[in-house]
Amino acid sequence: MKPRIEEGRASTRRKEPKEPGRKNTRQRTLMGKLLCIVCGQPASEGHHLKRGIPKNERGLQRKAHDRYMIPVCRREHEVLEKTDDEAWLMARKIDARSIAEALYRYRNDERNMRRVVENSLMERRVPFDV
Ligand SMILES: [Zn+2]
Repeated sequence: MKPRIEEGRASTRRKEPKEPGRKNTRQRTLMGKLLCIVCGQPASEGHHLKRGIPKNERGLQRKAHDRYMIPVCRREHEVLEKTDDEAWLMARKIDARSIAEALYRYRNDERNMRRVVENSLMERRVPFDV
């Protein structure tokens, strides 16, 4: 007796489970359109401030999480992940918490989000292309 050829194998591929903290929210997508808050080059992603998240908001609430995000390029993002991010930023006169809060306040207003970043760069005399 010939074994039956099984059909439809390819369609049994399982979908990757969604990681709750990794979803690309609109706020995250917007971060990639801004300039890096540190160096003024185009940002590639958002960095979540490590201490920015109140204990009762840690982990679960994505919106609370996104409130403490700043736009960074890949290079600075790697540095920030390895260090005391807010202290490192403050040493460069970047008040990351205030900037993150302002960006979140303007989350529906890309133009003002840009302005927040540009004002911070100008204050520190970091050159950038508009
Ligand atoms: Zn940068």
